[in-house]
Amino acid sequence: MEPLYIRVHERDNVAIIVNPEGLPAGTRFPDGLTLIENIPQAHKVALRELSRGEPVIRYGEIIGWATGAVKAGSWVREDLLVLPQPPPLDGLSLATAPPAAQPPLTGYCFEGFRNQDGSVGTKNILGITTTVQCVAPTVDYAVQRIKKEILPRFPNVDDVIAITHTYGCGVAIDAPGAEIPISTLKHISTHPNLGGAPLIVSLGCEKLQPERLFRAPDLAQLQVLNNDDPLLIRMQDERGFGEVVRAILSAAEKRLEQLNRRQRTTVPASELVVGSQCGGSDAFSGVTCNPAVGYAADLLVRAGATVMFSEVTEVRDAVHLLTPRAINQDVARALIREMKWYDDYLARGSADRSDNPTPGNKRGGLANVVEKALGSVAKAGTSALMAVAAQGEKVTAKGLVFAATPASDFICGTQQLASMNLHIFTTGEGSPYGLAMVPVIKVSSRTALAERWPDLIDIDAGRIATGTATIEEVGWEIFRFMLDVASGKKKTWADHWGLHNALAPFNPGPVT
Ligand code: CA
Repeated sequence: MEPLYIRVHERDNVAIIVNPEGLPAGTRFPDGLTLIENIPQAHKVALRELSRGEPVIRYGEIIGWATGAVKAGSWVREDLLVLPQPPPLDGLSLATAPPAAQPPLTGYCFEGFRNQDGSVGTKNILGITTTVQCVAPTVDYAVQRIKKEILPRFPNVDDVIAITHTYGCGVAIDAPGAEIPISTLKHISTHPNLGGAPLIVSLGCEKLQPERLFRAPDLAQLQVLNNDDPLLIRMQDERGFGEVVRAILSAAEKRLEQLNRRQRTTVPASELVVGSQCGGSDAFSGVTCNPAVGYAADLLVRAGATVMFSEVTEVRDAVHLLTPRAINQDVARALIREMKWYDDYLARGSADRSDNPTPGNKRGGLANVVEKALGSVAKAGTSALMAVAAQGEKVTAKGLVFAATPASDFICGTQQLASMNLHIFTTGEGSPYGLAMVPVIKVSSRTALAERWPDLIDIDAGRIATGTATIEEVGWEIFRFMLDVASGKKKTWADHWGLHNALAPFNPGPVT
């Protein structure tokens, strides 16, 4: 392979090395640039000489200031950059340049499970909600029995899962922010893939009483929706473990009878609610997998679907690029509100956004959170920002939506589950991440990862770096794969192996 670097923007004075083994000192590029030291793959090369204090530019944006003189052809390491301050939240341009809507994309459909409330599922699952961690092993035990003894009689049902978590008790349940985990768990319990009413197992004495998870009138309504079949089992009301398990099995059997009657029907692609996030990103993420997912996001928006991007700390340093794209000033202000909320949350813990990049991100060539954020927001594509959802809030808008979540993979995924019926996950360093409730499509930033993990990575976007595929081609491939996966026609590797991460609702409040 010829020596190759990728420069994203004409203003950039650094570029990243594409060659899988990196490149040795003395390598000469066709434009005459010569490396003066060895540079690993994905790491940055200075395209020209930089003096001390000069801005280092990638994606056309300042990712740092040089701590000293940097020679052309040298390796621009993390320690050669001073981290810039985040963009100030006052004085941002609000809705000044919302992109015009692209032509609608019609005729794209998938086979989904239509629910009574109009929502559409991509799987058919019996989910058993828990109000508190105390009952989790009991429900896990019951789920094992249900899968073995009852599920085989209901072939239209894909799976039975326990919706377990660490929230529910020993928490300051009236503290500011407590509505975030509670709202997340509520929406997950009535997820479109669970087909309607939840099945709840409560201990009895916990702080998160079922009437707190769902308001009493909502519970009554859900009871009607559930044909008066049992909706709630309180463990402390039952006589012994055997009795509790029998009660769960009996309620589960009734739910399975309902779920088994569900059939996939053809629905328009506009019924998709796709959550995107990245995990284990590298310097390629922002030029391969994330723009390809962004292209697919644009296609989904054109098809009338909903696409969420999230991860506040990976948006914070690119917020000045997003507020102009808001459809109106209220949406722009809501985005700023979520950035401010997270700034304050981090400050309470004596942290800031610079705690974000991981050792793996840095090994993958990302110098700091600014460079990570500029690559991360490429997942949002180029459409206008139509709505902003606060932490834990369910997304109801169509089009491109920012749903505020932490960047932590499992917390972001859990929170996006409140709204999404399909998940797309980009990765540079590699992650086996998956969720039981929705299919998780994994896209690699480099071909080397897709080759090392052929049975974990669903789509290789690394081909974009080497020029064997375009962003558009991979974007369409992702879009079509999404429709097949949502239809149950194709399986993600995570579902093939049953790699399903535990749920982790975000609790910003105190634990007592
Ligand atoms: Ca993440």
